[in-house]
Amino acid sequence: MVDKQDVRKDHVDFGDDMDILVRSTGRISVLDQNFGALVGAGIPFFGVGGGILRWVLYQILTDFHAQRGYHIVMTPAVASTQLFAISGHLEFYRENMYIFKIEDHEFAIKPMNCPFHVLLLMNLLQKYREKVPLPFRMFELGQVHRYEISGALYGLLRVREFTQDDAHIFSPSENTEDEILKTVEEMREIYEKVFQIPINAENIKLRLSMSDPDKIGTDYIGTKEQWEEAEEYLRSVAEKIHRKHGIEYFEGRGEAAFYGPKLDMVLNLEDIGEWQLGTVQFDFNLPYRFKLAELVSKIRGEDIPMYMVHRAYLGSIERFIGVYLDYRKGRLPIVLNPVQVLLVGVLSGSEVDKKIRSTITKLRDTLVAAGIRAVSLFVDKVRVGKYVRKIESTVRPSVQVFVGARELESGETGIKYYNLYERQYLQKRERFADVAELAQAVLDVVEELEEPVRELTGKEYRIYEDLSYML
Ligand code: ZN
Repeated sequence: MVDKQDVRKDHVDFGDDMDILVRSTGRISVLDQNFGALVGAGIPFFGVGGGILRWVLYQILTDFHAQRGYHIVMTPAVASTQLFAISGHLEFYRENMYIFKIEDHEFAIKPMNCPFHVLLLMNLLQKYREKVPLPFRMFELGQVHRYEISGALYGLLRVREFTQDDAHIFSPSENTEDEILKTVEEMREIYEKVFQIPINAENIKLRLSMSDPDKIGTDYIGTKEQWEEAEEYLRSVAEKIHRKHGIEYFEGRGEAAFYGPKLDMVLNLEDIGEWQLGTVQFDFNLPYRFKLAELVSKIRGEDIPMYMVHRAYLGSIERFIGVYLDYRKGRLPIVLNPVQVLLVGVLSGSEVDKKIRSTITKLRDTLVAAGIRAVSLFVDKVRVGKYVRKIESTVRPSVQVFVGARELESGETGIKYYNLYERQYLQKRERFADVAELAQAVLDVVEELEEPVRELTGKEYRIYEDLSYML
């Protein structure tokens, strides 16, 4: 059931409620300033809860990619504009870039990670020669900056600074198709296991984003013939994806990246409509502009045409979180939720309160020792309903457990847990003989909710922080 209040709220409100985001219009009374004015327009400012969310998500994504043969890299935020002259960004992307001078030398904040990844591969090739395996996959949670007009900025949806789950696959032409086909499966795994968004032929389409033939040479690098060839190639890959997964595709003219055509995943969800998720881009330009293909051919002693696949599954992580909060009305998967478990001691003003207090405290200690972000609260039974409803619609814990005189007497309590597919709290009745048994029952529920992510990487993601001040 969706809270009536939540219908009017959007991701900025949800983000503020859960301390994922600092509201830019929020006032710092003593400085007589807005947070947004100090941080700057279009720069997302995550709260403490947002720090947890991002840190855990980054660990999951890093493990996921390392386990699938990607090399994890981290590249600088700033580079000499000479780098972006070679990549073509200066010529084709300049109006989106932040460029500045230091001691007569021109620098740019990176708008994309790709040029650095090409350099990294060139360094490896020169050092390790033919031992460097191809295709070579490189993954980076890369923070980029792109100019957007201030009127377009909003919350996490339109920003000037964002982090991409960015990867580049450097591939001889004969392997490129397989590499692109693999990305579809990887993307599906992440959406389903981390975010519990079902992906199927009914709710997803591929947009084959093509160039505008009249703008080749001005907005797009390369010749008409090269573009035609590249677009035909990607169309045949889209056709294969269609045959294998049943996913439909349609063509979008003038939607390509400046260096090549791309496949964009467009998800259609109830409530929020069409949502563009990941992108897989086919690039026949950068490997040649950087003479990477020449270097590979020299080392291998034969002419090897090289392509580059740029892919991001969540795209802008900031935007993804924003749309996700809108879509889920502020509900997050337990691994990413700042407050995971709420423990409520329901006091009745009698002798039994002492036992209630000790039960909740022990319960909390056990969960905290297991790395679970559990918070506890003691409240009079007359006020408990109102109090908890407020927490439920702001802090939004994934699991709730109540212990009062009745629960202690009967040795039974309900464990409420939020189910993302059903969009509501469900309840499990549990019998317990002592606190240890109750703690185990709560741990079992938490583990069950964590299960999809464990299936994805085989790991558990638990970082405890004391967030009791949020209650
Ligand atoms: Zn790229």
